[in-house]
Amino acid sequence: MKKKTSKTELICPNCGTVTSIQRKNSRLKRLYHLKYLYCYKCQIVTNQIEIKDKDVVEKELVNKTHLTKDDLKVLSLIRKG
Ligand SMILES: [Zn+2]
Repeated sequence: MKKKTSKTELICPNCGTVTSIQRKNSRLKRLYHLKYLYCYKCQIVTNQIEIKDKDVVEKELVNKTHLTKDDLKVLSLIRKG
């Protein structure tokens, strides 16, 4: 039986580059989970922020009235990348 996986996206805290990875559904992490991942643009491993889907998150953040510190950080990274 084929195991279900889904795509999730992580954003580099240095340059805002979005990297997609496949994750098993049973192991999906919460939004803003941190994961060390290689950034091809920085050419180093950075502590990337899981945003799951850039377009969805950006839309949500733009419409949100009370942004947390993490929200603001992610929003500025999305715009940077
Ligand atoms: Zn980077």
